[in-house]
Amino acid sequence: MAHFVEELREEGFAVDHRVAPSLPAGLQAHCDEFKVERVLAMEPMSWDGRRMLEQLDVDLVPNDQFLCHYDDFASWAAERNALKLEDFYRWQRLRLNILINTSETPPQPAGGQWNFDHDNREPPPKDGRAWPAITTFELDDIDRSIIDGFADNLWGAMPDGVWPVTRTQALVRLSEFVETGLAPFGPHEDAMLAEEWKLAHSVLASSLNLGLLHPREVVEAAEAAFRNGDAPINSVEGFVRQIIGWREYVWGVYWLWMPDYRAANALDAHRPIPPAFLKPTATHMACVSSVIDHVDAHGYAHHIERLMVLGNLALTAGIDPQAMVDWMWSSFVDGAEWVMLPNVIGMALFADGGQMATKPYASGGAYLNKMGNSCKACRYDPKKRTGNDACPFTTLYWDFLARNERVLAGNHRMSRQLAGMRRLSDLSAVRERAEVVLNALDEGTL
Ligand SMILES: Cc1cc2nc3c(=O)[nH]c(=O)nc-3n(C[C@H](O)[C@H](O)[C@H](O)COP(=O)(O)OP(=O)(O)OC[C@H]3O[C@@H](n4cnc5c(N)ncnc54)[C@H](O)[C@@H]3O)c2cc1C
Ligand code: SF4
Repeated sequence: MAHFVEELREEGFAVDHRVAPSLPAGLQAHCDEFKVERVLAMEPMSWDGRRMLEQLDVDLVPNDQFLCHYDDFASWAAERNALKLEDFYRWQRLRLNILINTSETPPQPAGGQWNFDHDNREPPPKDGRAWPAITTFELDDIDRSIIDGFADNLWGAMPDGVWPVTRTQALVRLSEFVETGLAPFGPHEDAMLAEEWKLAHSVLASSLNLGLLHPREVVEAAEAAFRNGDAPINSVEGFVRQIIGWREYVWGVYWLWMPDYRAANALDAHRPIPPAFLKPTATHMACVSSVIDHVDAHGYAHHIERLMVLGNLALTAGIDPQAMVDWMWSSFVDGAEWVMLPNVIGMALFADGGQMATKPYASGGAYLNKMGNSCKACRYDPKKRTGNDACPFTTLYWDFLARNERVLAGNHRMSRQLAGMRRLSDLSAVRERAEVVLNALDEGTL
């Protein structure tokens, strides 16, 4: 915001940038000082923000930070029973004419397929390759004055210039991603490496969420790289799906389901945030420790680390969804309510009972061992579900199914997993071990 003020002033705008105890107080003070009769604002990004401005009689103009306004999403949603991401994504592709071959009748998806997900699930490479480098932006006087104003008790490393804070910096980040990150983005999208915090991910979410970049220019740059032969279709399609599919879908469902959505807790989960999430040395679980290390260093973890490590542990341990939202929101550089709620409540914690995800993203250590490289250095064994060295993810996965059997039994996509759980000959030993694991998680000794 401080940089934006300077940019606007340089363009000749008069800017009243004031610090106030609350938004209504600041607005009132501004109106009094400048004898303002009519205030015009873009629709805010949060439900509470919009309600507050409406109550203050501010005239709102449509929010143009997305390619699908939430009113258009609501109209799309009203025509169907199930809100499938894939249906929304294809609708977006066609309507926005992105990665579509219009020379064919009817128009066809570029590359002959809508979805290249099956090419984008490779485990982490073992060749020790270098991942795309990104610019670290030099901190200037504005940055330093903001950092000086931080309270002493903040969590994590001090900002080091990794995250763009101006439009110019965000454009640098976009062009370096398109030049060096986009081509390798796809195949290892789901892979995790303890020593590598971002792999080939774009690290563009904070720039998009702050409005430093518009999603249209981001997908156009990605499509141009494909059309010019600079990036393969599986990587470009996978990336475009994230931006015009997932990101816009999450924005749409947030507005559709608020305000009730933020209180959802379908699995009746009430465990507090564990010490393991608060510093990398607070757990022996090597995968959790490495992800928290990434969050501590950069306020960032990539999608699979968020979903399958932090989210998976929170889901299977029964962490309170609202506590998880609050913790993630305050720990991640790209956090905002509209994107946190559907991703945490809906996608990671299944706290909406399946409104968003068709089944819980719960998994044991086997998945994390396949897609990451932390298990070898871990004191736990991903294959074991009982015993002192059993992997907490594996134990909790089975315990989660048993604990929530009644709620999950109505979900036909869970029948295979539930049948597997019922067949376990050592289920009672697993459940006993789960109690020990959950106590240790609460105490910070796991
Ligand atoms: C539990 C959980 C919490 C999350 N919290 C946030 C959050 O606070 N803010 C946030 O922007 N994203 C959030 N996400 C979504 C996603 O993980 C991040 O957008 C992504 O990891 C950001 O890194 P990146 O820019 O390198 O993304 P890339 O992997 O390079 O993806 C490209 C872009 O696609 C968009 N995108 C991809 N997936 C999603 C998604 N599920 N929802 C919304 N946008 C998506 C983002 O804008 C992202 O920058 C969360 C996901 C989970 C599972
Ligand atoms: S053994 Fe379990 S806790 Fe340890 S790194 Fe592997 S998945 Fe994580």
